[in-house]
Amino acid sequence: MIKEYFCKVVKKVKIRNKILLYLERPMGFDFSPGQFVLFVAETKIGTISRAYSIASTPDENHLIFYISLLSKGAMSTVLKDIRADDELKIRGPFGEVTPEKIGQDLDKIILVGAGSGIAPIRPLAWWYKKHTDVNVTVYHQARYEDELVFMEDFLRWKIDFRGFVSRQPPKNETLKYGYITDDISKIIKPYQNKKIKVVAFGPRGFVEKIKTVVDETILITEGW
Ligand SMILES: Cc1cc2nc3c(=O)[nH]c(=O)nc-3n(C[C@H](O)[C@H](O)[C@H](O)COP(=O)(O)OP(=O)(O)OC[C@H]3O[C@@H](n4cnc5c(N)ncnc54)[C@H](O)[C@@H]3O)c2cc1C
Repeated sequence: MIKEYFCKVVKKVKIRNKILLYLERPMGFDFSPGQFVLFVAETKIGTISRAYSIASTPDENHLIFYISLLSKGAMSTVLKDIRADDELKIRGPFGEVTPEKIGQDLDKIILVGAGSGIAPIRPLAWWYKKHTDVNVTVYHQARYEDELVFMEDFLRWKIDFRGFVSRQPPKNETLKYGYITDDISKIIKPYQNKKIKVVAFGPRGFVEKIKTVVDETILITEGW
C-alpha cells in the first residue's frame, strides 16, 4: 500500500535557482538510499505530484531535498512560496536504484550527480562507506561553487569527492573548472577487469552525456 504523510517544513535555504528543503521526518517513515518521494500539491491546474530524491541518510531526523526551481514549473511555483511551518504532502518512498539493485560485491563505485542529481548520491555514498569495503568516489557537476552543497558532508565521511564547476573558475583549489566527463574515464581505467559500477543522476541531457563515456554494462542512470 502506498503511504501518504503530511510533513512540516523545518527550513528552506535558497542557493541561486535551487533550494535545500528540510522536512520533519514522519514517524515510521523508512527508506533506502537512492529512493525518492512524490510531493503532492493542490494547484490552480488541479492536484499535481512530482518526484524528489531523498538526500538524507536513513539515520538522520529530517528529510532533506535539493531541488532546482524551474520558471513556470507547477511544483516549482509551489515550492518557491513554501515557508517554514507550512505542511507538505508526500507519498512514498519509491525507487529501485538502491544498494540492493546496484549490488554490494564491488571493488569500486563511482557516484555521479549533476545539479540537484547529487541528492540521492549523498545517502548512497554514506551507505557504501559505512556498510561495505567498496572504494567510493563521488562526482558533483555544478554550475557554480556554492551549488556544491553537500561537499562538506562527503569530506567529513572521508569519501573521495570531486567537484566540478562549469561557469566560473572555482576559488577552492581542490575543485576543477570544467566537466566531469573529461575526468571520469581516467578513474574507471584501472578498474577495467574488476567489479565496478557507475551510478549517475541528474538532468536528462547530463545522463545522456555520461552514457557516451561510460560502458552501459557498468552504468545505472536516472534522469529527469
Ligand atoms: C525519480 C526522479 C527523481 C527526481 N529528483 C529530483 C530532485 O531530487 N531534485 C529536483 O530538482 N528534481 C528532481 N526530479 C524532477 C522533478 O520531479 C520535477 O520534474 C521538476 O521539479 C519539475 O517539476 P515542475 O512541476 O516544477 O515543472 P513542470 O510543471 O513539470 O514543468 C516542466 C518543464 O516545463 C516548463 N513549463 C511548464 N509550464 C510551462 C509553461 N506554461 N510555459 C513554458 N514552459 C513551461 C517548466 O519551466 C519546466 O522546465 C526528479 C524526477 C524523477 C523522475
